[in-house]
Amino acid sequence: MDLNDLIKKNVMSYGADLCAVADLSTAQEELHAAYGHCFDGLTRGVSFGVYLPFRVVEELLEHPTHTYLAYYDIANALINEIGLRLHNDLLKMGYEAYPIPASQRTGAKNGSIFSHRMAAQLSGLGWIGKSCALVTKEVGPRLRLGTVLTNAPLTPGTPAENLCGDCTLCTDSCPAQAILGRPFDEREDLSLRFDFHKCDAYLTETRQTFGKRICGRCIAVCRFGRPEKNQ
Ligand code: SF4
Ligand code: SF4
Repeated sequence: MDLNDLIKKNVMSYGADLCAVADLSTAQEELHAAYGHCFDGLTRGVSFGVYLPFRVVEELLEHPTHTYLAYYDIANALINEIGLRLHNDLLKMGYEAYPIPASQRTGAKNGSIFSHRMAAQLSGLGWIGKSCALVTKEVGPRLRLGTVLTNAPLTPGTPAENLCGDCTLCTDSCPAQAILGRPFDEREDLSLRFDFHKCDAYLTETRQTFGKRICGRCIAVCRFGRPEKNQ
């Protein structure tokens, strides 16, 4: 079995639903600008996803739920476990690796030490949608992402085509008008596509009414991954 197949087999056996490899050397400029040189030499990112329960996410279209928050934490814990186990596998094979912990709910500002979305997009797991979430053909944005950076000589995947097209579902459903409707372009600043302050203010409002910062309507509404009208 070649190294790619072995890594993917292990990651899936640890509980991931999707797995692909990103070539991070193609994004060195952005990585240096965002993180300095702390990840230098780790030119591959093993990107993986854990699905969230569709019906639980769907309920967010009506109101925030504690069920969603519970599964968010469960998926994050699984992501962290998969990341650590993969890191340890790579270490035992003689490679360097750095497991990136699952990001936390912090509005549009990615609460992570490394962009899982960037790695997932470069790997071909999905594309960055107008909602700024990673969108997959399989389940849309209803998943949590993990990444392990490594110097293992893995063969990378190809970035996926952006299939948002003329869709405006997430833009129209955002109660804060935070999604500006502009397609993802890695050369442009995030602020052209997303008003972080509006999303953040809305999440703070929900804390006052519900007790927790939660929304997720832009995730629940996405047309990709909906069982009845997938595509
Ligand atoms: S739908 Fe909710 S979570 Fe999504 S951008 Fe708007 S306010 Fe933020
Ligand atoms: S709802 Fe539509 S525009 Fe928004 S991310 Fe999904 S496919 Fe793209």
